[in-house]
Order: sequence, then C-alpha cells, then structure tokens
Amino acid sequence: MVTPALDSFAQVLEQARACKACAEHLPLGPRPVLRAAATARLLIIDQAPGTKVHETGIPWNDPSGNRLRAWLDPDRDTFYDENRIAIMPMGFCYPGRNPKGGDNPPRPECAPLWHQRLLALLPELQLTQLVGGYAQKYHLGARNKKT
Ligand code: SF4
Repeated sequence: MVTPALDSFAQVLEQARACKACAEHLPLGPRPVLRAAATARLLIIDQAPGTKVHETGIPWNDPSGNRLRAWLDPDRDTFYDENRIAIMPMGFCYPGRNPKGGDNPPRPECAPLWHQRLLALLPELQLTQLVGGYAQKYHLGARNKKT
C-alpha cells in the first residue's frame, strides 16, 4: 500500500518529469533529468544536463560524473540508487549551447518552479551538495562566498 506522503512524492516527481514550462527555450525539447526518492539522504544539486545526459536520461553520465564519483567515492550502483542519493539540477533539461562557448546557464524558470516542492518531500536528507555557482548562489543566497 502506498502511503499518502509517498503518493504525493510520486505525483510531484511525475509532474516534474512531464514539465514543459520553458519548452520554447530548449533547442532539443524538454527532457527533465532528475532522480529522487523520499528516502534519499544525500542530495546533489548541480547545473543542468549536457547533451550526453539529455540523450541517455542518466545524470552525471559523462567524464564529469566519473570525476564526481571519484571524489565522493560511492560505486556506480550506490551513486545511482535514488533511494539513497537524489540528483536534482538547477535546470532539469538541456539548455542548449552558448554561442560564446559551453552550454547555456540552467533555465531560470526551473528551480523556482520545482526545488522547494521537491525539497519539502525529502524529509530524510542529511546532506546537500551544491555543485557549481548556480546551485550555490540560488540555495545559499547571502551566505554564498567565492570559494
Ligand atoms: S528546464 Fe525545468 S522548467 Fe524548463 S521544461 Fe525542463 S523541467 Fe520544465
């Protein structure tokens, strides 16, 4: 039997995964990539998917993911066990290329639309890792520092 809290979590996750709120700004279309379960104890908030992550639907499925796993030291199975580790970018969908180089910033609509709703449904979180300037600025606010 599904408890009301888990049901609500599943509903919000399903809504987030079906989101098209900023579709007109996404060159490859909406494909929200996030992983979470109500039991997760570690949350990684990063920037936004690149093209490889967009193609596979698997977050951190690229060389930067290999580096992060080497730093954090979980094996691949643990890293992708959403019952333990939630992964929620600042922008859930690939934001396109920046003409000046690199990818565009995460879409600004995304975190205000989804983060608080999802965070409220992750009661077991013990640690949130903010990866990159966008996540740190948004979630730390005035407490954000240079390093
Ligand atoms: S980037 Fe975020 S707000 Fe935009 S369509 Fe994807 S999930 Fe929705």
